[in-house]
Amino acid sequence: MARARLDEVHAEIARTAKIAGRTPTDITLIAVSKTHPAEAVTPFIAAGQRVFGENRVQEAQGKWPALLAAHPDIELHLIGSLQSNKAEDAVALFGTIHSVDRLSLITALAKAQDKLGRRPRYFIQVNIGDEAQKGGGAVADLGHLVQQAQSADLDVVGLMAVPPANVEASPYFALLAKLARDHGIAQLSMGMSSDLEAAVMLGATYVRVGTALFGARPAL
Ligand SMILES: *Cc1c(COP(=O)(O)O)cnc(C)c1O
Repeated sequence: MARARLDEVHAEIARTAKIAGRTPTDITLIAVSKTHPAEAVTPFIAAGQRVFGENRVQEAQGKWPALLAAHPDIELHLIGSLQSNKAEDAVALFGTIHSVDRLSLITALAKAQDKLGRRPRYFIQVNIGDEAQKGGGAVADLGHLVQQAQSADLDVVGLMAVPPANVEASPYFALLAKLARDHGIAQLSMGMSSDLEAAVMLGATYVRVGTALFGARPAL
C-alpha cells in the first residue's frame, strides 16, 4: 500500500509538472508522518521514500532517532511551529526546518547551531493569508526576516506557507512564489494533499503530503 500511494502521488506530481513545463525531479515529496507511529513509516522507507516531515519536535524525538540510525540517508524536515526553547532539540534532529518566523527564534537557532556544530537548512515561514492565529512572519516583514536569518548565519534556502483553509489556495501560492523571486530565494515549500496540483503548477519545489500517503490522521 505504501508503494502504491507513493506511486500515485509521484504520478500526480509528474503529470502536473509536465503541464507546467517543469522537471518532475525538481519537486521533492516530503512524506508527512506526523501522528503516525514508526510502524506506519517503515513501509514507506522500504518503498524507497527518504524525505519525511514531522510537525512536533517531541513526537519526532520519540519516533525518528532509531529510524535515522538505521537509514542515515533519510532527510527529516520540521514543518510545524517551533518554540525557541526547543531550538536546540530541533537543530540536533532535523536537517531542514521550515518554520523560521521571528527574530527570537533566529537567535535561538543560531545559538543552537554554534553549540552543536550542526547547520540545518531553513525555510522562512510566511503568514501568507495574514491570519491572526497562524505561524509565519508577515509578508511586509519578509525582507527584514530573511536578512536577520542570513546575518545570523542561518542557511536560508526557501520560503514556506500554509494558505488559509477552505478558500482557493492558488492566489496564495502565486504570492509566495513572487515573494521568493523578489528576494532571490530558490526553494518553495507549499502544497499538501488537497492542493498539490495547484502548488506544483505555481512553482512548488517541496510539497508536504500526509493524508494522501498515510491516510487520515486521528482527530486531535
Ligand atoms: C500536516 C501538515 C501537512 C500535510 O497535510 P495533509 O493534508 O495531510 O497532506 C502539510 N504541511 C503542514 C505544515 C502540516 O502541518
